[in-house]
Amino acid sequence: MSHNSSNYNAKPLPEERILVATRSVGKQREIRSILSPLDNMIVFPDDLGLQETAEEERLERGASYTENATLKARHFAALSGLPTLADDSGIEVAQLHGGPGIRSKRYAPNSEDQDNANNEFLIRQLEGCDGKDRAAVYRCAICFVRHEHDRPVLFEGSCTGYILETAIGDGGFGYDPLFFSDDLQMSFGLASRDAKEAVSHRGRAFRRFAEWIADGS
Ligand code: IMP
Repeated sequence: MSHNSSNYNAKPLPEERILVATRSVGKQREIRSILSPLDNMIVFPDDLGLQETAEEERLERGASYTENATLKARHFAALSGLPTLADDSGIEVAQLHGGPGIRSKRYAPNSEDQDNANNEFLIRQLEGCDGKDRAAVYRCAICFVRHEHDRPVLFEGSCTGYILETAIGDGGFGYDPLFFSDDLQMSFGLASRDAKEAVSHRGRAFRRFAEWIADGS
């Protein structure tokens, strides 16, 4: 059977492995926990010995989270031959007209400690702003493909808050110490992993994926 451009996207079976296409240790920790009911099915690129390539670096060239997640999922499905799940995420700030958005990972100029550099850069960009201008949304898009050319199955999640003037807490990763969550009424940097997962963009998107798998239809 050829799978080219087909609808062939059967859900993973319990005995199958699913490659989750992220190398971010922060994300891996969260995804493993959110998808704990599927724990024995999940593998990451390093578990398969998949070395990072120059092509992978260029993958996030799409115009949206969904497009980037789909590019990543197709790339890793082709490399691994496994059903593959990929996500793309970012933070959007009102004063920055939705930026840094899909460029969240490399917002500040290249640095050895990119997360800290991004946070310091964001603090500087928002100097003198208050109220509505600091409003922010975290977004996450997920793409599942069984084979490289299958039609993608997509899921999304988001959560709202605002950007603090200084970092609070050292939990989570990336922008978390600067993100004050509307749902939790505290910074994600102070939240426990469970609390963040319950309301986060990634928690919401990955739970939708888990519900899709669990739904027998
Ligand atoms: P990507 O999805 O790997 O392209 O990277 C998304 C980037 O957005 C990360 O490197 C972080 O800078 C930021 N980001 C996405 N989700 C989170 C989160 O849950 N906490 C903190 N930062 C995040």
